[in-house]
Amino acid sequence: MHELGITQGIIDRARDVAVANEAGKVTDLYLAMTPAADFTFESIEMYFEMLTEDDELFRGAALHLEWLPVAATCLRCGSEFSTDVPHPLCPQCGSTAVRPDPTAPMVQLTDVGVDEGD
Ligand SMILES: [Zn+2]
Repeated sequence: MHELGITQGIIDRARDVAVANEAGKVTDLYLAMTPAADFTFESIEMYFEMLTEDDELFRGAALHLEWLPVAATCLRCGSEFSTDVPHPLCPQCGSTAVRPDPTAPMVQLTDVGVDEGD
């Protein structure tokens, strides 16, 4: 359930950006996820809706997702490669037993779109 805390962190950072820009609305949140994430984008969307339900600042804001590559290791043949898909196959042996770099960031807020409002 740590997606809840992660989503709250994303919202807090976007709010900081809006406040710094004296914006009346956050219109877009740009997220970059890596295959190191042990949750789905859908769960982030779900918590985002839940957490911003009564929040005027985020009303109608859209989430945009981009996948970033991450280093991964095949647990079967030891091959190391880079991947940007959530459930990668080893390019050497085709195994699904692939471990993404555990130190890689799971999700990052890369940009925030704001509206000055009136
Ligand atoms: Zn392999």
